[in-house]
Amino acid sequence: MYDFIITGALLVDGRQVDIAINDGKIVAVSVAIAENQTQSQIYSAKKVLDLAGKYYLSAGWIDSHVHCYPASPIYHDEADLVGVASGVTTVVDAGSTGANDVDDFYRLTRAAKTHVYAFLNIAKTGIVTQNELADMAQIDKQSVTEAIARNPGFIIGIKARMSSSVVGKNGIKPLLRAKEIQQENNQLPLMVHIGNNPPDLDEIADLLTRGDIITHCYNGKPNRILTPAGALRESIQRALKRGVLLDVGHGSASFSFDVAELAIKQGIYPHTISSDIYCRNRLNGPVHSLATVMSKFFTLGLSLEQVIRCVTENAAHALRLTDKGVVDTGYDADFTIFELKQQPQVFNDSEGKSVTGDKYLVPLAAVVAGDLVLTDEGKSKDVFSL
Ligand SMILES: [Zn+2]
Repeated sequence: MYDFIITGALLVDGRQVDIAINDGKIVAVSVAIAENQTQSQIYSAKKVLDLAGKYYLSAGWIDSHVHCYPASPIYHDEADLVGVASGVTTVVDAGSTGANDVDDFYRLTRAAKTHVYAFLNIAKTGIVTQNELADMAQIDKQSVTEAIARNPGFIIGIKARMSSSVVGKNGIKPLLRAKEIQQENNQLPLMVHIGNNPPDLDEIADLLTRGDIITHCYNGKPNRILTPAGALRESIQRALKRGVLLDVGHGSASFSFDVAELAIKQGIYPHTISSDIYCRNRLNGPVHSLATVMSKFFTLGLSLEQVIRCVTENAAHALRLTDKGVVDTGYDADFTIFELKQQPQVFNDSEGKSVTGDKYLVPLAAVVAGDLVLTDEGKSKDVFSL
């Protein structure tokens, strides 16, 4: 007797499996669960969903870079609007809050169906203004450490936004402080935003170590990962060799098709694909949803398996969410059910360039800890009338 059985789930590697779920965890995955049960056993499961090999299922999509602190004056959104409503089971807010507001953020997102985690901004105000690191007094190590201790399992990393408009005259200093904070707090993942210089990207990259995450990795600003001639900067080559990770963090101003294309041609793939979504770029574009950002990578030559890996296994690895990202026994029962529509679609980057692709992802449902939540597209499918 199971809480929930999903049969005929099409995985991106082409396998078709049945999945049994108890208490929010995957307890069995095989081609034979349904066959080995008598009909009455299957139907004594509290819920059965038969995807009949017609719909894809992957581990639940993880968006490593969103903004969903509803009370943020600048980058606000609702966790479920960037999460389950778009087929995303886990979102990680990237530094909207610092030590001052992270408890409020935690409280406001407990009712969400989506799993919500946070990178804590090293500035105690978070992103209340655009220049949170222009005053070094904003970085109070003690309050950062206390906030992390108060929110175990919610704060999973720290964030430093290292671009000129954010750091003002402080140059590289906030990043030096972030690395100290990281060392004093169990080597938590550190996500570093890159944008306009100063500080120069070479200076930033040389300070990063294994597991640190560069977000906005394909931004089109002069401080991009490519040299003016289009080669990968040597500082980034060295960083990647050390195990530094590249995250997309598309956003309103941080994704260039041209940069991504040149980089990917040189084998510089993203480790994680994330959206940097919040209400405005969700409603008005160019982000719209994680699925839209993921679909752009088909036009850049990535396969379905590669794209899905960036929001499942790779994201779980980067964020150290050890129970997520894999469809296998013992992992969390978080899934995204989706279609791959073979139809032309126009995609816009953050630099005003449009590219027409030949396919795109349509999320139909999120399963979060065993609970099924349909997207608008999913609601129109008979398969989900359980
Ligand atoms: Zn962001």
